[in-house]
Amino acid sequence: MKKPRIVILGAGYGGIMTTVKLQKMVGTNEVDITLVNKHDYHYQTTWLHENSAGTIHQDQTRIPIKDVVDFNKVNFVQDTVVSIDPKAQKVQLEDGELEYDYLVVALGFETATFGIKGLEEHAFNITNINNARLIRDHIEYNFARFNNEPGDREDLITIVIGGAGFTGIEFAGEIANRVPELCKEYDVDRDKVRIITVEAGPSALPGFDPELVEYAMNRLEAKGVEFMVGTPIKEATVDGVVVERDGQEEEIKTKNFIWAAGVKANSIVEQSGFEVNRGKVEVRDDLRAPDYDNVIVVGDCSLIMNEETGRPYPPTAQNAIQQSAVAAHNIKELARGGNDLQTYEFNNMGTVASLGHDDAMGVVFGDKKLFGWSASVMKKVIDNRYLLKLGGIGLLLKKGKFNIFH
Ligand code: FAD
Ligand code: NAD
Repeated sequence: MKKPRIVILGAGYGGIMTTVKLQKMVGTNEVDITLVNKHDYHYQTTWLHENSAGTIHQDQTRIPIKDVVDFNKVNFVQDTVVSIDPKAQKVQLEDGELEYDYLVVALGFETATFGIKGLEEHAFNITNINNARLIRDHIEYNFARFNNEPGDREDLITIVIGGAGFTGIEFAGEIANRVPELCKEYDVDRDKVRIITVEAGPSALPGFDPELVEYAMNRLEAKGVEFMVGTPIKEATVDGVVVERDGQEEEIKTKNFIWAAGVKANSIVEQSGFEVNRGKVEVRDDLRAPDYDNVIVVGDCSLIMNEETGRPYPPTAQNAIQQSAVAAHNIKELARGGNDLQTYEFNNMGTVASLGHDDAMGVVFGDKKLFGWSASVMKKVIDNRYLLKLGGIGLLLKKGKFNIFH
């Protein structure tokens, strides 16, 4: 009898954890599992702000897929997904085509530009290893240029961050720690460097706990980060960023503009004809797409409503990782012809955001607020716990964050 073919698209948090769990649940004699990913490594998206600032190297963030996936059980295809045809049960890759009986879509997120002029051309984004590395090198190169260009080119050493959501705040914390090193290395006066975080909302992290927001803003300001709140970005140009302040447009001159003001689901999902809500598949309780019984969607491509708030749960690694347990169980069950499907419920474990490697803030265990060193340790515990889940103690020792004393 032909074995059911399971295809998993994307090896981010949702995809790789589903694969790792599934490979332990089924035998090679009963199913064929194929994992497709653009690169031969998994990367920790939640560490990309550190790679972008240059405070950790990309090799700590990326994990070879072969180190955590058993290639005797899973057929790994390094390729780029172009489209999915859920009616024909086919996936078009840049370099071929795959047919499936059961599909897991875990293609993650991309930057949302909201149609703002010039963003595609003139802004950097923190979304993957390649663009994180580019940001690091670009900023460093501009510091190197500063003393070699005629005139007072302060635009070269002005860093503008679009959006003070969690990504913007975390990047601000890292780059504020990195700037003194860059200044020393490239003979630049620290007082001339500006790090400006521009936020449309009335404060950083709009809607988050006010006490924690105040802590984060004070700590970042103490490290030299300027905040412009109530200030939407209107346009990015070759020379800088146009913002609206008090009803007036003004330009901030910069050659280092990092847009961190929003994410959306991978557009392949909508383009492939799935029924979407805000560009994502609003999955059923068992994580299946509403219109296809053989397709499960996890992570940032999926949408689940929080019944209490009437708004979707935010796209997080925490959610993608939790979903993987139900996704693996349900895909196994479907492939075996069973109908004992589990239902998924998000269990909010809290939110902790770093403010550089040495500081953080957040809320855990329901309502326990953490600040400073204890929050920073908690953040590293969360990061290390994931490594342990993904690849056991060996991976944790290789890639973990153990420096908790500063
Ligand atoms: P992703 O992690 O985006 O993975 C998608 C995978 O699919 C990638 O491997 C990618 O290469 C691959 N892929 C994409 N397109 C294709 C294609 N066409 N073909 C083949 N492969 C493809 N969340 C938290 O819970 N806690 C945090 O502390 C946190 N920190 C964050 C920090 C930063 C800087 C950022 C940007 C986000 C952070 N998030 C955090 C959010 C979190 O990273 C995302 O919600 C999470 O990565 C979503 O997981 P995913 O599996 O859906 O997709
Ligand atoms: P976000 O959507 O959460 O925040 C974007 C911010 O940009 C908002 O504050 C918004 O008001 C602002 N903004 C939007 N348009 C703007 C404009 N034109 N000008 C100026 N500001 C503008 O996006 P994010 O921070 O990238 O986070 C994405 C997801 O990843 C979220 O779900 C977040 O919770 C998660 N995340 C979590 C952590 C963590 O837990 N430590 C860290 C990073 C990201």
